[in-house]
Amino acid sequence: MSLTLIPAFRDNYIYLLTLPQKPGVWIIDPGDAAPVVAELSRRGLRPSAILCTHHHADHIGGVAELAATYQCPVLGPGASRIPARTEALREGTVHLDGEEMTVFEVPGHTLDHLAFYWEDLLFCGDTLFAGGCGRIFEGDAAMLYASLQKLAQLPDATKICCAHEYTLANLHFAAEVEPDNGAIGERLERVRRQREAGQPSLPSTLGEERLSNPFLRCHLPSVQHAVRAVYPDTAAESVATFAALRRWKDGFRG
Ligand SMILES: [Zn+2]
Repeated sequence: MSLTLIPAFRDNYIYLLTLPQKPGVWIIDPGDAAPVVAELSRRGLRPSAILCTHHHADHIGGVAELAATYQCPVLGPGASRIPARTEALREGTVHLDGEEMTVFEVPGHTLDHLAFYWEDLLFCGDTLFAGGCGRIFEGDAAMLYASLQKLAQLPDATKICCAHEYTLANLHFAAEVEPDNGAIGERLERVRRQREAGQPSLPSTLGEERLSNPFLRCHLPSVQHAVRAVYPDTAAESVATFAALRRWKDGFRG
């Protein structure tokens, strides 16, 4: 198995996963066809499936061209308009190239956002980010919070394959929320060095997210106190804290 991150646009990653057995080559969230075609050609690969987490243009922009070029199935959420979709997915399992993959419904960023879990890899689109989480466009805070909690049930070693390189900015915000959290400071330095060296900060692990991502830490007094210092009317409980934290991050300019 090998996982390749293909940079696209300003800060997107398209994931290319090659399984040990042929023909398993999966493309996740191809917002742009050109860099994917270039990588596939360079390695002499053909995709066996295209997977879409949600319907935003920077995740599906390359789907129609790739599906037409390679004649491969396209799997994604049912309600959204995913180009060339051949199979609508719901929460549960799906069989692909002889492998069983778990599908989670994780609404909040969009109403029909999906996450894909195979072996120790979690492709979570714009739901959980390294050091942060997606914006709430179609759902509400309680919905996104429940979705993140669903993903947080997975093992610590789960690799978080999110769709954007937002980690550094997210960790600057995390350090603002929890200035005394050593795990955040340590991670911020590590990610800063990675980015200076031109390396992706992804995938992260769920274990490190638990320690340093404030959006997975809304049950803790440290995060609840920090949120109440900015939004004094916030109830000292997880969902209200999460909602206020998301609002705080929306207006945060580091
Ligand atoms: Zn999106």
